[in-house]
Amino acid sequence: MNIEQLNPEQRLAVTTDAQYVLVLAGAGSGKTKVLTTRMAWLIDQGLVSPGGILAVTFTNKAAKEMLQRIHALLSVNTRAMWVGTFHGLCNRLLRAHYRDAGLPQNFQILDTQDQLSAIKRLLKLYNIDTEKYPPKEVFYFINRQKEKGLRPQDIAPTDPHEVRLVELYELYQNQCDKEGVVDFAELLLRAFELLKNNIPIREHYQRRFSHILIDEFQDTNDLQYKWLRLLAGQKNAVFAVGDDDQSIYSFRGANVGNMQDFERDYAKGHIIRLEQNYRSYNHILHSANALIAHNKDRLGKNLWTERGHGEPIRINELNDDRQEAQWIVDEAKSLIREGVDYQQIAVLYRSNAQSRAIEHAFFSVGLPYRVYGGLRFFERQEIKHVLAYLRLIHHLDDDTSFLRVVNFPARGIGARTLEHLGDAAKEIGCSLALAVGALKGASAAKLAAFVDLINRLKDMAKILTLPELIQQVIHDTGIEAFYENEREGEERLENLNELVNAAKVFCIEESFENIPATQMNQVVVNAEEGQTTTEYQSALDMFLSHASLEGGDNQAEHGANAIQLMTIHAAKGLEFDVVFVSGLEQGLFPHQNSLVAEDGLEEERRLMYVAITRARERLYLSGAYQRMLYGQTEYTTRSQFLEEIPEEHTKWLCPKEKVNAYMKDDIFTTSSHGKTSAKITNGVQVGNKLFKVGQRVRHAKFGEGMIINLSGQGMDAQAQIIFETVGAKTLAIAIAKLDIL
Ligand code: ATP
Ligand code: MG
Repeated sequence: MNIEQLNPEQRLAVTTDAQYVLVLAGAGSGKTKVLTTRMAWLIDQGLVSPGGILAVTFTNKAAKEMLQRIHALLSVNTRAMWVGTFHGLCNRLLRAHYRDAGLPQNFQILDTQDQLSAIKRLLKLYNIDTEKYPPKEVFYFINRQKEKGLRPQDIAPTDPHEVRLVELYELYQNQCDKEGVVDFAELLLRAFELLKNNIPIREHYQRRFSHILIDEFQDTNDLQYKWLRLLAGQKNAVFAVGDDDQSIYSFRGANVGNMQDFERDYAKGHIIRLEQNYRSYNHILHSANALIAHNKDRLGKNLWTERGHGEPIRINELNDDRQEAQWIVDEAKSLIREGVDYQQIAVLYRSNAQSRAIEHAFFSVGLPYRVYGGLRFFERQEIKHVLAYLRLIHHLDDDTSFLRVVNFPARGIGARTLEHLGDAAKEIGCSLALAVGALKGASAAKLAAFVDLINRLKDMAKILTLPELIQQVIHDTGIEAFYENEREGEERLENLNELVNAAKVFCIEESFENIPATQMNQVVVNAEEGQTTTEYQSALDMFLSHASLEGGDNQAEHGANAIQLMTIHAAKGLEFDVVFVSGLEQGLFPHQNSLVAEDGLEEERRLMYVAITRARERLYLSGAYQRMLYGQTEYTTRSQFLEEIPEEHTKWLCPKEKVNAYMKDDIFTTSSHGKTSAKITNGVQVGNKLFKVGQRVRHAKFGEGMIINLSGQGMDAQAQIIFETVGAKTLAIAIAKLDIL
């Protein structure tokens, strides 16, 4: 194998025989490349067989790409390699040892939305006051505990509120266990407990995986790190690559401290630093370096590149979000005229809600685009309905799926009937489907008909292949007819067709062609020299797991000949010739929530660092003076990140001095509803207070600010205020409780 094209540090990282290695390096320095090359190199040198490798990637797509690259390099059997996301790998482990893990063979995975609806159902069942215990709070509480590796009995609650939360965690877990379902956090925790408590299994995998490799190590959480340590045992080699400056998932429990812990836990480990960036031109790279230097507490790195200066970063601020989108579209058009490929242009944004205006602009001029990171295919409503039917066919006791589709399409089964059914099931201690037999009357007959429908489909699943079964489900359940009659059902029907196609491709890839959907088939999970491990699974089993896990993977796929629209989170690890980052406004990016959270601003800055470093050749940054978001027009102030990029790397396409929106005259004549209102100079009287433009005020939540515009009178009076913390807000004066300073 030729590793000559690598630089000396990269080569060292690929070939080192140190047991523990941490490659700590900035964006675009070849971390992922080194990790993939090392796997291939180890196999090529005969230092490990494919079956001895376990590699963790950040997305399923990255895993696939790695396997393809290794296959192309060496043409080895990559099936034996365990390469995937933490969730994917834990799923694989639990499938292989479901009994030891205390799970039913056909356990189902709940994605985030399923989990939330399971929690809502639980709260309803136990008559919990959702004002005091909002489902989201319960959801975050449970997941946070699981991410810390804690079961209800391990938690010492500190107040009555928390006591209740722990109880709810326990009830929720019982419900999941009864239904044979596993949420994302549970996948990790179960897999961890399995290795921790079952010594033979642990020792088996410790013997097996002599090389463990982890990409994007900065975004692992504590439990993932503990899981890796268990697998590594005393003898195995651990190779981790990461960049503390790109840690952007702490809101999900990721702990960048794992990098320091790694050093501490593996004192012998040595750190390799890569400092040459192969991705970006100088203007881009230096901007990124200068920006991230504003963060404290960094492990510290210096990146340089041999690529030339390139063009300065173009910055533009437009009047509103529509004009901003239009400007992006115009620039994209001229880039394409210059010969840039569509898929080499990415438009990034902080929040999904921003994509609507941009999509609309691309759509209007007929430029092809693809949106990622919004609603993913497997998360679309119509797809989830069909998947719920498939889950029920597979496992009738799955109450979440039962409730999702029992009255979709409408079958005249109302909330009261379901409440009775829920009570009966609770009393008997069985699933909803089983409890149907205990009810009487007209509504019971409707429920029974539904269960019959599922049972009929279950019988067909013994004969039909998976794509045929899906087709049958779409038809027999009435979903097809439902969308045919819906005004905007056409796109949904196309998506359902796409699901059938996805199942076809899946069956070909996994060797389930011409095999009935629920027939158990022997699948090879590991193939090492002289030893093959197989499992029995059905196409339906595997497809449902695949759908749950893919649903959680929000990263873009390359190849489509279209401009790529995605959130910055979804762009991690990717690179494009041209990158637009939109919405650079205080409160949007950096995000409002970050301005109150501890370390919030620094995490936002890391996110900006990730955004900038996706660009190879050209970078555009933009913002708008006013923006329609969540149905409200807000006046904005410039993102501080724009001020943190050194002037010499930028080219402003608008006057830089025009710092804030309120300096623009035309804005004063447009109210938040788009109607023209007169500029009020006399001020507005509300109660005993007189508000005037230019007046400084204090708000309980947003702190101090200045009124920049007033409209309406009395109860309808509104003030636009620039707050120091969150930027511009439009508030109803009668409600906002403003103090005059
Ligand atoms: P990120 O932090 O964004 O994940 P990374 O450190 O993983 O970045 P890679 O994606 O592995 O970086 O590499 C960035 C680009 O540089 C890729 O296109 C890669 O092929 C290229 N590259 C890396 N090393 C070399 C090298 N020695 N010679 C030429 N190109 C290289
Ligand atoms: Mg990478």
